[in-house]
Amino acid sequence: MLTVEQLSANYGPVRALDSVSLSVAPGEITAVLGANGAGKTTLLRTISGLVRPSGGRVTLAGRDLTGVSTEDLPGLGLAHVPEGRGVLAELTVEENLRLGALGARGRASTTELRRVYDLFPVLADRKNGLAHVLSGGERQMLVIGRALLSRPKVLLLDEPSLGLAPRIVAQIFELLRGLVLDGLAVVLVEQNARSALSIADHGVVLNLGQVVVRRDAAALVSDDGLRHAYLGF
Ligand code: ATP
Repeated sequence: MLTVEQLSANYGPVRALDSVSLSVAPGEITAVLGANGAGKTTLLRTISGLVRPSGGRVTLAGRDLTGVSTEDLPGLGLAHVPEGRGVLAELTVEENLRLGALGARGRASTTELRRVYDLFPVLADRKNGLAHVLSGGERQMLVIGRALLSRPKVLLLDEPSLGLAPRIVAQIFELLRGLVLDGLAVVLVEQNARSALSIADHGVVLNLGQVVVRRDAAALVSDDGLRHAYLGF
């Protein structure tokens, strides 16, 4: 569903991404792991066209995204949930959710909204409240729900677990596992390697902008040497 080939990106003289390749099939989660500054966020931002690549290619469901502008990507099936859980604080929860559909293809139907509320019942309880009163975990649910309303084929998620209590992280990750059953392809960038690999099909480790390890998630977890060298658990 998503293919990244030899993707490179620079910030001035800094080579943040160096010939990175990966692919994600429908119904699969690929965890992208690595230390601070390894290039994980840059990878997602380059896939989304927010950072201009200095080389390489991204294809989505067979379509070359070179030259496609970032604002057109949700309509093609690419949703990007950046780090930081950004919401429009003065809009209600439901208004924030509706923006996900508007940015991609028009109005959200009642059925689609209901589907998101079924996934995240806490959002249904708070749908008429302003988004700024939500807790961190609720905000994370809101930004994922908003992305789902664009009907993505590929979901890019940047550090969804950051700063959340382990119980909330477990809840959100379990839900992600459920989402891919319908064929969604997910790229999950995480510092929390242990949790990410517990739901991922594949793991890719970046170091200094390069892929240094690429394994099935289960094989990566069971390799003590790799875990200790790159993943810190
Ligand atoms: P973290 O987990 O801390 O978010 P990361 O793996 O996501 O790290 P990136 O944020 O992609 O890493 O950063 C990769 C490299 O690019 C780092 O050396 C970083 O300092 C540099 N970098 C990131 N953003 C910029 C920028 N806007 N301008 C210049 N250099 C940047």
